Amino acid sequence: MPNNVKLRPRMQRLLSPAVTQAEVIGIIAWLGVLLAGPLKASGVAEGLVTLGLLVVCGCHRAVNNFVVWRVLGVVYMVLLCVGFFHVIGANLELRVFALPLAVTLVVSSALLFISVQDFLVCAALVWAVMWPILSESFYEGAQVYLLIFCAASVSIGFILSFSYLKNLRSVLLVESEFRVLAQTDYLTSILNRRALMESFARLIAAGESGYFLMLDIDSFKLKNDQFGHDVGDRILCAMADCLKATPGSHSFGRIGGEEFGVLLVGDDPSVASAFALRLLHNIRGSVAPPHHYTCSAGMTGFAAGADMSTVLKSADRNLYMAKRNGKDCVYLDGARVQAQCSDADNRVITQA
Ligand code: GH3
Ligand code: MG
Ligand code: MG
Repeated sequence: MPNNVKLRPRMQRLLSPAVTQAEVIGIIAWLGVLLAGPLKASGVAEGLVTLGLLVVCGCHRAVNNFVVWRVLGVVYMVLLCVGFFHVIGANLELRVFALPLAVTLVVSSALLFISVQDFLVCAALVWAVMWPILSESFYEGAQVYLLIFCAASVSIGFILSFSYLKNLRSVLLVESEFRVLAQTDYLTSILNRRALMESFARLIAAGESGYFLMLDIDSFKLKNDQFGHDVGDRILCAMADCLKATPGSHSFGRIGGEEFGVLLVGDDPSVASAFALRLLHNIRGSVAPPHHYTCSAGMTGFAAGADMSTVLKSADRNLYMAKRNGKDCVYLDGARVQAQCSDADNRVITQA
């Protein structure tokens, strides 16, 4: 997906409050004009415009769909413009305000749209609506000056809209790059400890229950010593690939060094155990001898609202038991997890 498309929802979320505030100011100004003096007005048209402005402003605030959100922005501006056109048309003494009004609407709308095209459409519609009032009688014979105002306001608005959106996009782009960097382990490109813990905290906060699996590569120091750190690094990457290639996890990451964590959602201990055995099986075959390696795992369940640090300590205790009892195995709540039959994927038992 292109970056500017990816950024749209965030830009919409960022701009939406300011757009609402600007639209409310527009509605207040509109009501101010209606209430300020004795106007020659039918009342029905003004009522419809006021209602329309309120409805469009409310929908604009609430809507999530990006295209509808953009269309509503243009609809609001045109509605406001049509309202003022109607009032000025019915009250000739107000014509003097038509030019500053058109310029103000065009220039201020430059900061309210998420794309330059939307601004240009809006500016064209504002001038198209206001032009008949402006070019008739009051500015008759001075259309060339009106054209200069029109061109100047659209150009200033265009430059404002273009540079402001360009800068906003690049700031958001840099911010998302930093966000990814802050959540990614530099060597394996999977989640780092912080991001995994954030994912865990979100699960607990959402009321989910499941299992936390803590993994530690067996005798990894020996691999480093025997084959060098570069081979050790490749083993860490192979381990991350196994985590990616083994379906069934909610999220996983590198906790640090040669330790990894996996979050599993669901209450069934046999499903969690089957996953752990499948993962250890995949790890065993992931790198050809002589660089092949194994992994030990400690697993513990967590419920909604669990204390993360208690869960981690319990998983660590189980990992320690796996290390103490021969490595290359999984311990769940103090008991060794073993495949019940040859089908390790579905049926498992735990043995104290
Ligand atoms: P055990 O089976 O008990 O877990 O033994 P072990 O050797 O795996 O554990 P130990 O804690 O003694 O050694 C961990 C090693 O992991 C030591 C450290 O050099 C290595 N290590 C930590 N981070 C990295 C890394 O990013 N790259 C490489 N190549 N090695 C790392
Ligand atoms: Mg370790
Ligand atoms: Mg180790």
